[in-house]
Amino acid sequence: MRATSYEKIWVGGGYVAAYVCLDALSFVQPLLKLGITPWNPQAGLTLAFLLVRGWRFAPWTAAAALLAELFVRGSPAPIPVLALASLAPALAYGAVARWLVERGGLSTLRTRRDALYLSGGAGVAALASAVGYTSAFMVAGVLPLEILGAALARYWVGDLNGVLTLTPLLIYLQRAPELAVQIRGRGALIVGQAVFLCATLWLVFGPTVAGDIRFVYALFAPVAWIALTWGVPGTTLATLLIQIGLMFGSEHWLATSSVIEIQFLLVTLGLTALLLGAVVAERSLALERVAAAEAEQRALLTTAPDAVLIAAPDQRIVSANLAARRLFGLADPDADDVKLSTLLPALDVSTNTGRKRTTGVLMGTVRFPVEVAWTRLDPPARHGFLFMVRDITDQEAAQAQLRERDTALARAMRLAMAGELATALTHELNQPMTALVSYLRAVEILAAPLETRDPRLIETLRKAMREALRASDVLKRLRDFYRSGATDVAELDLAALVAEVVQAFHDRATRMGAHIDSSASSQVPALGDRIQVQMVLHNLIGNALDALAEVEPGARAVRIKAWPTDRGTCISVEDSGPGVSADVEKELFDPFVTTKPDGMGLGLAISRSLMRGQGGDLRLDREGTPGARFVIQLPSSAKV
Ligand code: ADP
Repeated sequence: MRATSYEKIWVGGGYVAAYVCLDALSFVQPLLKLGITPWNPQAGLTLAFLLVRGWRFAPWTAAAALLAELFVRGSPAPIPVLALASLAPALAYGAVARWLVERGGLSTLRTRRDALYLSGGAGVAALASAVGYTSAFMVAGVLPLEILGAALARYWVGDLNGVLTLTPLLIYLQRAPELAVQIRGRGALIVGQAVFLCATLWLVFGPTVAGDIRFVYALFAPVAWIALTWGVPGTTLATLLIQIGLMFGSEHWLATSSVIEIQFLLVTLGLTALLLGAVVAERSLALERVAAAEAEQRALLTTAPDAVLIAAPDQRIVSANLAARRLFGLADPDADDVKLSTLLPALDVSTNTGRKRTTGVLMGTVRFPVEVAWTRLDPPARHGFLFMVRDITDQEAAQAQLRERDTALARAMRLAMAGELATALTHELNQPMTALVSYLRAVEILAAPLETRDPRLIETLRKAMREALRASDVLKRLRDFYRSGATDVAELDLAALVAEVVQAFHDRATRMGAHIDSSASSQVPALGDRIQVQMVLHNLIGNALDALAEVEPGARAVRIKAWPTDRGTCISVEDSGPGVSADVEKELFDPFVTTKPDGMGLGLAISRSLMRGQGGDLRLDREGTPGARFVIQLPSSAKV
């Protein structure tokens, strides 16, 4: 037999034994020796057992009821009738237990909903069980029809009271350690309440008044006190004591009729107490949650890196978190009686919520840029405004640095462009200029015999020649001026260098849904002129993004890699665009070659001459990729 089966037998057997014992103890004033008594705690045990262990244990319930019939009650009916009658509670409580479990169970019994489900379910189960049980005996002829109504009422009230006094208590026993913590240090209160309850019990069920039901209402006082202090477990313990008191009284001096009447009153008491206990439990649960939420919020505010301020409608700061105190140099905002206008003088809070950049003031002197977000607080929070303030000094400095770098890069680019333009113009105009000068010389010779006619002719020709020579000289000097820019080859941190250039394209790439990915590592040793290499990368990435405009947004990617080679480190810029067209490729690095309507066709020409100027190179790599792949070859050593 498996371990679980052993466990089942132990649990089921234990339950049956407890059931039979409880039945024996509460077998007081039975009707016709049947299990129809004014208080059936076994019903409470049964429902708790089925709720905790599951409705599949219902057969054990039937067995327990049958054993009780045979050994405790000595019922005057044949065994088949007893077996039939024992099925009634098993079916009724099994079904209700299943219904309750499907509705979320009653594992905590800490809400009104749980208390109502339990009482409603118990009422229905007790009724169904009463009908089944009494019908079996009536059909067998043991129970006369005339007393059927009385038997039903007695069974129902007995079962219901049994459930109300025992089931919640047994469910709570599962949380015994938690309860033990609650009662620690409150012994005097418990003793006081117990004495009050016992005294009232003596008054109500004692021999002096002998079951006068007018006094039963007195029990509400101690039960309400206990319910308000301890919630459901205390309440059910109190009703259990009341039932025991009632049974004790009925054994000695209470008449059968008054016991039943009292039981009906106790159903009301039990239900009221259970609901009251549940309300108390619900309230303490809600308070616990509020306290936990408050503690979390306090922790959140305390640890928040941004400054959080709360200002009253008269602008007085009533609360400031740690970051706020640090940011504004506040000691204790309550004691200082600081006004919002002292900390954020330029802030105008005219809307309920908002966000603004403004200036913060530290200790009345130091001014710094801040970003403020605010919202109006409405009841139940106190009136006023909540502000979140972020110091953006670093952010602004970083942005200014970025702007400066971009400007420097653009200026360098313009210079390089002018240089390239001058070179190209010199190259293109050199020949015509030389030819022009030769032609002018020839004209001068040819016109020599005519000198006598008008002396200004030769003079004018000489002037034209001088101007032509000057023009070609200007072009040469211009080229030399722009070309002479010395390079500053030094060690490079490639990861940082690439990241800076990529950052400059961040907005543009985001707008067009392109992804720029760099695996350039700081570990790869690299040499080069930092500014010039950045200019070349800037050009290549800009061209790559231009090319990506021709493909679907989902397929727009630029990948940057770096790797060391024998002749110096290489950096590749590869895109997923359409690639360089065959007719452009032949003269790709020549100036003024462009396919763009607003292009100058100078970017690649400049980039190559910049790289060659420092001992490196730039080329198009045709291998592998369908898009374009440009490779920058960095110099292998500093050029001397
Ligand atoms: P511009 O960008 O002003 O046209 P460039 O010298 O930078 O000048 O580029 C020259 C030409 O090379 C471009 O017009 C384009 O046709 C081609 N090209 C450059 N980069 C790419 C690329 N990544 N993909 C496809 N074609 C490219």
